[in-house]
Amino acid sequence: MAAELFFKSIAELGALLDTKTVSSAELTQAVIARTKAVEGRVKAFNSFDEADALAQASASDARRAAGQARGPLEGIPVGLKDVISVAGQPLTASSKMLANFVSPYDATVTTKLKGAGAVIWGRLNCDEFAMGSSTENSAFGPTANPWDLSRVPGGSSGGSSAALAAGETIAALGSDTGGSIRQPAALCGVVGLKPTYGLVSRYGLIAFASSLDQIGPFARTVEDAAIMLGAIAGHDPLDSTSFKADIPDYRAEVKRRQGPWRLGIPKEYFGAGLDPEVNAAVERAIAFYRAQGCEIKEVSLPHTQYCLDTYYIIATAEASSNLARYDGIRYGHRSKDAKDAVDIYFKSRAEGFGAEVKRRIILGTYVLSSGYYDAFYLRAQKVRTLIRQDFLNAYREVDALLTPTSPVPAFKLGEKSDPLALYLCDIYTIGVNLAGLPALSVPCGFTTGGLPIGLQLIGQPFAEANLLAMARAYEQAHDWHRQHPSL
Ligand code: GLN
Repeated sequence: MAAELFFKSIAELGALLDTKTVSSAELTQAVIARTKAVEGRVKAFNSFDEADALAQASASDARRAAGQARGPLEGIPVGLKDVISVAGQPLTASSKMLANFVSPYDATVTTKLKGAGAVIWGRLNCDEFAMGSSTENSAFGPTANPWDLSRVPGGSSGGSSAALAAGETIAALGSDTGGSIRQPAALCGVVGLKPTYGLVSRYGLIAFASSLDQIGPFARTVEDAAIMLGAIAGHDPLDSTSFKADIPDYRAEVKRRQGPWRLGIPKEYFGAGLDPEVNAAVERAIAFYRAQGCEIKEVSLPHTQYCLDTYYIIATAEASSNLARYDGIRYGHRSKDAKDAVDIYFKSRAEGFGAEVKRRIILGTYVLSSGYYDAFYLRAQKVRTLIRQDFLNAYREVDALLTPTSPVPAFKLGEKSDPLALYLCDIYTIGVNLAGLPALSVPCGFTTGGLPIGLQLIGQPFAEANLLAMARAYEQAHDWHRQHPSL
């Protein structure tokens, strides 16, 4: 049986829209109906605005009728993580601090998606201020994994990955500071891409750790991810770290570029803590590439063991600085029973932030404080350079690296209560952010219990087209992306 509309890819739906087999209004209706049917169990959204989505869809249908369709995203519903600004819509970062905040302007990615004709759909749940790996840190309650509702969808962009896997959207955006796109993509069986630092504008993204944050797409297929990336990438004068790179036609390049490629297997990424079923699935993917004529080579990233420590110094330092703006004065939660200005700061922040956010602010303030700055923050920056150098050294011999995305498949809600146990979920993803590299997760099988497994491909700076082409070569020969959870 042909898949329901809400499980189709952007590419498939584009053909149906072009031939007028369906309208954007019908597609958007189907997505809304699906959302209403399953959302009570999945809980992927912090909010959605049905009337607004339908109005956007009608406007898209009118453009199409007038011969003004704007490209492959015309009329396609796209969900946005609730840290990305959409003018006139709530923006909460899944925090009590911003529970009643409404975006005064669009993020650059939002402007670009609207310009491409997409239907902006819903505010997707995440860990508070994107700090976490399971979406359990949301002030509005956790999201469930559509493949097993007793398990986490990953995080921090767990609402994005779960909504997509459940058919509650056709594509989504998330943000990735240490793995928050790739890990939830892996745990929910969808494609997730973290672009090279600077490729996608951060303007209008709620800042967590500014030197690590990147916005990127979630999609059902690699081709869809290429379409989404093409829509959001590009230089933006509103983001001082935005890079002036030429943006290729990713969709065309992904189909044009063929292997064989030289692929590196970093030996440090296959050690203790790696689930045997995840390991086996990744080994089968490696064997696939070898059989395709790719040169497979073991490489070493010797500073991998320092990634977690380095990340939790740099990310918390930047977070402590970025989150200083939530003072209860200018915007966000303000304590009702504060006596004076200083009391407003203390009480508003004490009431507005959750436990994990407070933990990060305290840690970050500590590593930046005088007397400790050199020992922690400055040293971490030096180690970060070594970590990046490891990758660049490996790229003298190989075009990309293959690793598991997450050491474990989706775990039970409430299972990992110790923060360190959660931090360890990111051991294969955070090095990429520290090095500023592009990486994606593509589905590479299921555990015997039916939980999705993700393969991570890590690429050279700005080599997204290559990375997507490599992932597509694998995807084309497998049918993991055609399987959907039965909800
Ligand atoms: N899980 C990591 C953290 O908690 C990464 C989060 C992210 O990428 N936003 O910091």
